[in-house]
Amino acid sequence: MSRREDPEHIAISKSKGIKIDWKDGQHSDFSLPFLRDHCPCATCTGAHGEPPQRPEASAPFQLYKPALKITAVEPVGNYAIRIQWNDGHNSGIYSFQYLRTLSQET
Ligand SMILES: [Zn+2]
Repeated sequence: MSRREDPEHIAISKSKGIKIDWKDGQHSDFSLPFLRDHCPCATCTGAHGEPPQRPEASAPFQLYKPALKITAVEPVGNYAIRIQWNDGHNSGIYSFQYLRTLSQET
């Protein structure tokens, strides 16, 4: 069964971002910083009552900060993708439904 919020096609550029064509004809274009800022994992959203963690705060002594990149994307079931970032973060699972919601915010 296909739902409106299912992606028809996903184009992943590890240095630019992710583009999604949805089954209902909508198009989404997510930049890497946007996706990283909207990481839905508990650490980034502060789901446990902690203030959201700034990515910089975890590496205060890092002098050289490489440009944000995706190192890997793996499918999670048939409803989501997990994005691994070059800063070592990989706990964000972006469901298609969530991505669809994000695309309506922009
Ligand atoms: Zn996260």
